[in-house]
Amino acid sequence: MGVYNHEAFADHEQVVFCHDEKTGLKAIIAVHSTALGPAAGGCRMWAYSDDDSALCDALRLSKGMSYKNAMAGLSLGGGKAVIIGDAKSDKSEDLFRSYGRFVDSLGGKYITAEDVGISVSDMEVVSQETPHVAGLNSGLAASGDPSPFTARGTFNGIRAAVKHRLGKEGVQGLKVAVQGLGHVGWHLCKELHSAGANLVVADINDEVVQHAVKEFGATAVSCESVLFSDVDVVAPCALGAVLNEKSIPKLKTSIIAGAANNQLSQASDGALLRAHNILYAPDYVINAGGIINVAAEIEGNYDRTWVNTKVAAIYDVLIDIFERADKEQGSTSGIADLMAQEKINAAEKTVVPSKKNQIVA
Ligand code: NAD
Repeated sequence: MGVYNHEAFADHEQVVFCHDEKTGLKAIIAVHSTALGPAAGGCRMWAYSDDDSALCDALRLSKGMSYKNAMAGLSLGGGKAVIIGDAKSDKSEDLFRSYGRFVDSLGGKYITAEDVGISVSDMEVVSQETPHVAGLNSGLAASGDPSPFTARGTFNGIRAAVKHRLGKEGVQGLKVAVQGLGHVGWHLCKELHSAGANLVVADINDEVVQHAVKEFGATAVSCESVLFSDVDVVAPCALGAVLNEKSIPKLKTSIIAGAANNQLSQASDGALLRAHNILYAPDYVINAGGIINVAAEIEGNYDRTWVNTKVAAIYDVLIDIFERADKEQGSTSGIADLMAQEKINAAEKTVVPSKKNQIVA
């Protein structure tokens, strides 16, 4: 299959195939849109079964970043890179320096960061070859761990969903089930607990579950049943594709609002959730706290107040989505996609056609 007629190709501005025989680097950098600013998005390292799967992932993820950045109100477009290889055995300093040189060759059109399989120390190596990298621990504007910001944004999103669906201010006395107590899930539990919510939790790691029971008075349930808990809100914070034809009819909650990426197994699951009268907070909107924090690093002068204001605004963005979805009788995920595309289209109108990245004042 070619690139232009690929099912995941969505008018991407540029797709770069990188190959360096000396270091063994094979990577694809997909720039979906720079209408709102330089394309920002992480780099994933994965042992793809074939080149087409790698291309498909890069194309889908970069479009996802355009939508995520647009809805977070950031001056960033969407891009993503994939390195084809096993993150456990194929990493080397030369490989990441080679990747850094490819990123640099785009002159700032794409800004890279960590994603699955890539650590902060890998990106520190990349930063030796290019300034167009974020998510670092060192440097004047280093933004550090994004997870607490993702958790805070998710907490704000849960409050928005509770307000819209249950007409309540805050989560005091509500039952919230959290699936996955990792970097984000743990911080989310902390926020929910201090706001007075009763927690139901599950994780494949029993130690962290016992810790949550002790620390937050949480009720532990099995990983198989947590999604189907009889609670006010379910917050998926572990895996993707948990919302599908099989799981949706079994849900007992009326609100799904969590941080996990790609919660819908397929786009039509958004409509299925609506048909079951379940309010869904679109994942890439509610989990944008982390990229907002990274955006402050990209700006070059990390400003905590700016970050907090943007993370707080996730509440308002979700209320807009919920209200428009009600008005247009559409799924919240479909409406979010529409709103993101509208923002990108509006920005494209102010871009000089021959120099797409140059914004007219
Ligand atoms: P993490 O790896 O730190 O945590 C994931 C947790 O889920 C782990 O504790 C793991 O044991 C648990 N888990 C795995 N399988 C499970 C199962 N079947 N049932 C219950 N628990 C299970 O990851 P994270 O950084 O906390 O991210 C969580 C989710 O949020 C991911 O989908 C990630 O893509 C998304 N996300 C994270 C950020 C961020 O800032 N870290 C930003 C945006 C989106």
